[in-house]
Amino acid sequence: MENVPRSDEVITVELIATCPSCHTYIAFQYLGEQHWPEDVAAAAGIETVVHMWRCTHCHTTMTETELE
Ligand SMILES: [Zn+2]
Repeated sequence: MENVPRSDEVITVELIATCPSCHTYIAFQYLGEQHWPEDVAAAAGIETVVHMWRCTHCHTTMTETELE
């Protein structure tokens, strides 16, 4: 069994989009999913599963919806 070092610096999933915060066309790092109860999601006008991304330029965390 190989001893593979873990690093949070490794970007495994990327999305290229214009950041609404710094207005840079840049790569976004995928952080994971956020799950919300249906009533909460409906009240907030979001999906029950929200994908979170972080801008590699200004490091602002945002949802996939904000990047569209
Ligand atoms: Zn940004």
